[in-house]
Amino acid sequence: MLLREVEYARPSTVDEAIALLAGNEGARALAGGQTLVNVMKARVTSPDVLVDLADLSELREIGFGPDGRLEIGAMVTYTQLGASSEVDVARPILAEVAATIGDVQVRNRGTVGGNVCVSDPTNHLPPLLAVLGATFTIRGDDGERVIDAGDFFRGVYQTAVGEGELLTKVSVPPSSGAGDGFAGLTIGKHGTYVVNAAASVSDDGVRVAIGCVGATPIRATAMEEQLAGGDLSEDAVRAAAEGLGASLDPPGDVHGSADYRRHLAEVSAVRAVLQAAARRKGT
Ligand SMILES: Cc1cc2nc3c(=O)[nH]c(=O)nc-3n(C[C@H](O)[C@H](O)[C@H](O)COP(=O)(O)OP(=O)(O)OC[C@H]3O[C@@H](n4cnc5c(N)ncnc54)[C@H](O)[C@@H]3O)c2cc1C
Repeated sequence: MLLREVEYARPSTVDEAIALLAGNEGARALAGGQTLVNVMKARVTSPDVLVDLADLSELREIGFGPDGRLEIGAMVTYTQLGASSEVDVARPILAEVAATIGDVQVRNRGTVGGNVCVSDPTNHLPPLLAVLGATFTIRGDDGERVIDAGDFFRGVYQTAVGEGELLTKVSVPPSSGAGDGFAGLTIGKHGTYVVNAAASVSDDGVRVAIGCVGATPIRATAMEEQLAGGDLSEDAVRAAAEGLGASLDPPGDVHGSADYRRHLAEVSAVRAVLQAAARRKGT
């Protein structure tokens, strides 16, 4: 289906982009367009003005903040993540997971900011960023605020980014010896996930988040608590995952029933934690 007529703006500064978004009701930021253009073609959404973020070079940078956190601009593509030496040094799981998103076209166009702002429960990055302790910087007319993943993801296609605001960057602490893991079942080799799980194991404990089983990533807090004692043997991890599925209320669809997703949540969580534990420095 062809796109409905829409106004197009291509600002050259972040402030200009925010002014355009705030000043035009029905304006929408355009990042890689891999989701937005498709939903516009399907007439699911029909913004009046598209504010293309393509020229905002500030949002394409990857670097380290004064506190040593890895800072990833919202317009950084999955391909850029995969080629970044900063990501490789600080949190290689981000490159590893980004390399499995969609196909090469999606990876060349799709952005970190778009991936999290669309808040699609089947997207790869939300559960991963939730366990890595990511923070999200949102800028609007009245300044900037930084919030964590627990507050950022609000529902399906809903985040803390309000009207007239932009997500400018995502910050992630360097691994500092932590091990990270990601596992799940996709539809086809690089397809959408039916269920996924992300895990991080560090001196502070174990963090696990499950994707595709609710509107936002769901932290497996009971499993995390059970593993807090430090025994990360396969038997202990499997035991800790028991009951995780029963605590979830996932949807059922043509790709898997709710019960199958409950089962996959436990299997994926076990695999992600064991992978993370094996990668932890000093083990
Ligand atoms: C064939 C195909 C397969 C795919 N498979 C997967 C997959 O398996 N896993 C996966 O994770 N993703 C998958 N995707 C989705 C892909 O990752 C998209 O790139 C992503 O969902 C959106 O990123 P984008 O940069 O294209 O954003 P866009 O489509 O341009 O924007 C998405 C939404 O986010 C908003 N937005 C974007 N950037 C900002 C910002 N900085 N501030 C505020 N709002 C912003 C836009 O206004 C829009 O509402 C797939 C896409 C396609 C086409």
